[in-house]
Amino acid sequence: MSKRYFLTAFSDVGISQGLGCSDAGPWRAPGCGGCGSRGGTGHRLLRPYTVPRVWCVIPLRLGLLSCCAFTSGLNVGLCLCQPAVAMKIPVFILAGLLVHCVFLVSIFDIYFSSPLVHGMTPQQTPLPPPAKRLVLFVADGLRADSLYELNSNGTPQAPYLRGILENNGSWGISHTRVPTESRPGHVALIAGFYEDVSAVAKGWKENPVEFDSVFNESKYTWSWGSPDILPMFAKGATGDHVYTFCYTAESEDFGAQDAAKLDLWVFDHVKSFFNSSRSNQTLFSALNEEKVVLFLHLLGIDTNGHAHRPNSREYKENIKKVDEGVKEIASMIDHFYGNDGKTSFILTSDHGMTDWGSHGAGHPSETLTPLIVWGAGINYPQKVTSQFFEDNFLKEWKLENLKRLDVNQADIAPLMASLIGVPFPLNSVGTLPLEYLNNSAHFKAESMFTNAVQILEQFKVKMSQKKENTLSFLFTPFKPLSDSEQINFLKKIRLCIQQQKYNEAVSLCKTLINLALEGLSYYHTYDRLFLGLSIAMSFVGWTTYVILVIIKTHTNLTKTVPTNNKKSAVLFYGFTFAGMIIAFFLLIQTCPWTYYVYCLLPVPVWYAVVREIPVIQDLAANVLSLRISQSIGFLLVCILGIEILVFSFFYRSALTVGLLVFAGWPVITQLWVQAKTIALIWTLLCVLLAIFPLMPVVGREPNIPLVIAAGLLTLLISCFSLASLCGNKNKYRNNEDLKVYFYQMLSIGLSTYVVSSTHDSLKNKLGLPVLNQIVSWMILVSSPVLLLLSPTFLFQRLFSILLSLMSTYLLLSTGYEALFPLVLFGLMFVWINMEQEALQHYGLSLKPKLAVFNFAYAVDITQFRQLHLDDVRRSFFFVFFIVTAFFGTGNIASINSFDPASVYCFLTVFSPFMMGGLLVLKVVIPFVLVSCAFEAVQVTTQLSSKSLFLIVLVISDIMALHFFFLVKDYGSWLDIGTSISHYVLVMSLTIFMMLMNGLAQLLTTQRLELPRRTKHHST
Ligand SMILES: [Zn+2]
Ligand SMILES: [Zn+2]
Repeated sequence: MSKRYFLTAFSDVGISQGLGCSDAGPWRAPGCGGCGSRGGTGHRLLRPYTVPRVWCVIPLRLGLLSCCAFTSGLNVGLCLCQPAVAMKIPVFILAGLLVHCVFLVSIFDIYFSSPLVHGMTPQQTPLPPPAKRLVLFVADGLRADSLYELNSNGTPQAPYLRGILENNGSWGISHTRVPTESRPGHVALIAGFYEDVSAVAKGWKENPVEFDSVFNESKYTWSWGSPDILPMFAKGATGDHVYTFCYTAESEDFGAQDAAKLDLWVFDHVKSFFNSSRSNQTLFSALNEEKVVLFLHLLGIDTNGHAHRPNSREYKENIKKVDEGVKEIASMIDHFYGNDGKTSFILTSDHGMTDWGSHGAGHPSETLTPLIVWGAGINYPQKVTSQFFEDNFLKEWKLENLKRLDVNQADIAPLMASLIGVPFPLNSVGTLPLEYLNNSAHFKAESMFTNAVQILEQFKVKMSQKKENTLSFLFTPFKPLSDSEQINFLKKIRLCIQQQKYNEAVSLCKTLINLALEGLSYYHTYDRLFLGLSIAMSFVGWTTYVILVIIKTHTNLTKTVPTNNKKSAVLFYGFTFAGMIIAFFLLIQTCPWTYYVYCLLPVPVWYAVVREIPVIQDLAANVLSLRISQSIGFLLVCILGIEILVFSFFYRSALTVGLLVFAGWPVITQLWVQAKTIALIWTLLCVLLAIFPLMPVVGREPNIPLVIAAGLLTLLISCFSLASLCGNKNKYRNNEDLKVYFYQMLSIGLSTYVVSSTHDSLKNKLGLPVLNQIVSWMILVSSPVLLLLSPTFLFQRLFSILLSLMSTYLLLSTGYEALFPLVLFGLMFVWINMEQEALQHYGLSLKPKLAVFNFAYAVDITQFRQLHLDDVRRSFFFVFFIVTAFFGTGNIASINSFDPASVYCFLTVFSPFMMGGLLVLKVVIPFVLVSCAFEAVQVTTQLSSKSLFLIVLVISDIMALHFFFLVKDYGSWLDIGTSISHYVLVMSLTIFMMLMNGLAQLLTTQRLELPRRTKHHST
C-alpha cells in the first residue's frame, strides 16, 4: 500500500502529504523517535527559589522550541536512509509541532491577555485631602504573622509598630495575589492593578505596558531601595518628578554578611537626604510641596528570608531593625515638618514567604501581608468586643479587641491617592478602603464617587473598543451597565451626595464599582468562548487524525482503497472555501492576526481527517463486527484510565486508585492462572507503590533513618542477585563484570554512609565535611560510567542501572522518597516479565530467552509486529508510570516542595543553578528508571517505538484537551498557576518521553569497553 498511497498523497496539497506512510522504513526503526514533537519539562525547575510556576512557562516555551527542533532534526537525519518516505515524516513532525505550538500559545491569548486599556480621563476627589505627604514603607517579603505575632516571652516582634496599631493607627491584612513576586506586588500596591501573565511574557524587568501609578500622579516622589524595583515606576512616569536612589545590584548578593544592611542603607540615605535639604533651597521647597510621596523599599527581610528562612533569628532580627528604622524615620520626618500633622504613613509588604524561604505561589504565608497605616487622615484604633474571621490569627496575635481591616493589595493605591489628593491611578481596580479613613462622611462619599467613576471610565473604554471591533449584529453588550444605566447610577449618586445621604451614596458607588469590574471582565473575556471552541475543534481533529494514522500504518485493520482524485479535489476546494469565509469574517471585524491562526487551524486539520474517510469506513466496519458490549467496554476503560490520569494532577491519591486497579490486572485477565508467583509479586508491588502518593509531599520533615534503610535494602538485594549471578554457571559472565558490580555496591554503601554522616554533622552545626562532599561528587560522576561498563544483558544491565541511579538518588534524598525508586523499579522489573506472560496469548513470547536477552543486539530487530489492542494498554501503563514518577513523591506538584536540604551532601552555599540542576537530576531519576524498563518492554515485545509513541501522543493530547478547559484565570491564584503548569506539563509530555526514550536507549544498549590486556592476547 505504501507506494500507491505515497504517490496519490504527493499529488495533492496539504499537510497530510506526510502521511501515507507505511510498513517499512523509518516508521519502524526504533531509533526514529516519534512525531508531534513537544517540549521538555525540566526547565521549570531551574530556579526553584524565586521563579513562580506561572512564569516558568516562558523559558519553557523557548526550551520547547529548541527541543522540538532537536528532535525533529534527529528524526530527519535518521529517516534520510529511506528516500521514498523520508519526505513525509518531517512534514508530519512539522505539522504536529506547529499544531502543538498553536495549542500551547493559544492559552495566553485566550486566558491571559493584558487587561489594561488606555485613554481614560483622570479622576480626582474635589475636596481638600487630609495629608500633604505620604511615606510608604514596603518591607519586601515580610509575612503578616511574622510582624504581628508575639515572641515566646510575650513581647512584640516590632515594638514600635505594635504600639502604632494599638494606639495611633489602623491595621489589617493585605491580601496579595499570585504570583507573589516583588514586581507584581509593587505594581498592585502603587498602580492598583494586578499584573497578568501577558505582561511578563513581554519582559520581566522592563515596563511591558504603559501604566499610571500614584508616583506618576504625585507632585514629587523620592524613593530609596533596590535597583530591581524603583526604576520601573520612575520610567513609566511622565516628566521628571520621580527620583530614585538605589544601591548597586551586587550588594543584594545572597552571600552578603547581613542583609539588614540593605535596610540600614535606605534609612541612612533618607536621613542624610533630609539633612542635605536644609542647605539646598530648591530641594527644601520641593519637599514642602503638597502631594509628595516618599517611598522606602526595604529588601533586607526578603533577602534574609531566602538565605535563612522566616523562622530564623536573622529574619526576626531584621524585622526589629526595620521597626527601629521606621521609628527613627517617622520621628525625623515629623520633626522636619514641625509636627504639622500632615504626613500619612503606610507600612506594608509586597508578598510574604513560605516557611522554607520561597515565594511566588499562593500559600497563605505568601499571600498574607501586613498593613499598618497611621498619621494624617487615618482612623485611630477601633476597640471592638468581637470580630469574625475564618482564621485564628487574632487570637494568636492577641489582637482580638482591635478592629482588623483587611484589604486587597490593589486597594492600597486608591487609599494613598485619596490621602494626598491626587487622581486615582488610571488602571487601578482597587476599591478605596473607607474604614481606614478618618474624615467627614462627605469626603468619604466624594472619594468613593471618584473611585466609581474612575473604574467606570475603564469599562467605557473597554466597551467601545470591543464594539468597534465587532460586527454590530454580533455584538452583545453587557446588559447591567448599559449607557442609560450608567447615567442613572451617576445621577442617583450625585443626588444622594447633594441631599447628604452619604451612606446611601457610598453603597450605590460600591454597586457601581462591582458592576463595572464585572463588565470589564465580561468584555475582557468576550472572545473566549469562540476562540476556545476553535482550539478544541483543532484538538479533536488532530487527535482523530493521529488515531487514523496509527490504524492505517500500524495495524492490519484497513485495506488499501484507491483514492478518488475527483472526490479529493472537491474536498480540497470545499475546505479552501470554508477557510476563506472564516478569514473574511475575521477581516471585517479587524481581528488581531493570532485570531486568524486559531480560527483557521481547524480547517487543514479536519481536511486531513476527512481525506482519510476510507480508513474510518474500514474501522467502522471492523468495530461493527465486534460485539457492542465489548467495544463499549473498551471505550469505557479507555475513558476511565485517562480520567484517572487527569485526576492525578489534582489529587495524587488518584494514582493510588489507579495502582490498585493495576494490582488487580492479573486477576482480571487470565495471567493469574498462568504465572502465580510473578502475578503475586506484581500485585504486592502495586500495593506498595500505591502508598507513596498518599504520603505528604517530600521535603517537609527529613527522615534520615529511612534513607539509610533504603540504602541497606538496596545492598541486600544486590547481594542476593550477586549470589545468584555467581551461582549461575553463566558462560557470559566474566570477572570484569563482577568487578563493576562490586564497585556499584560500594558506591551504594558509600552514599548511605555519606548521607547519614552529612546530616549528623549539619545537625551539630559542623557544616558539610569536605571529604563527604568530595565522595558525593565522585559518586555522582562515576555512577553513569560504571553503568555503561556493565554487560548489556537485559536483567544485568537493568540492575546496574538501578544501582547507579540509586547511589545518586540516595545522596539527594532526605526521607521516605529514597524508597520510591526501589519500589518503582521492582514493579518495572516484574512488568517486563508480566508482559511476556501476556504475549503468550499471541504466541509471541520470548520468555525462555529473556535471561540471555541482550539489549545491544535488540536494536537490530527489523521485523516489528502489527499493533493490537493490548498495545494500547501497554502504552497506557507507560504513561501511567511516567505520571506516577511525576507525582509519586509530589516532586513536581509544587515548587515549594523543593527543599534545599536534599542537596546538602553536594553543597551548602546558596547557588540557584547548581541546586536547580541537582534537583532536576533528582526528579529525572525515576523517569529514567521507568523509561529504561519501558525500553525493555518494547524490545522484548517487538514493538516499534514509533507506533507506541503515536499512542502516547493520543493519550497525552486527550489529557491536554482536559487541561485546556481547566485553565483558570479566576479564583485562587494558586489554582491559576497550577492550571497553566498542568497544561504545559501535559503538552510537553510526549517530547519529554521521547527524550527519555533516547536516553534509555543509550543507557541500555551502549557499553564502554575498557582496554583489556588479556583480550589483546586472545585476538
Ligand atoms: Zn519582594
Ligand atoms: Zn524574594
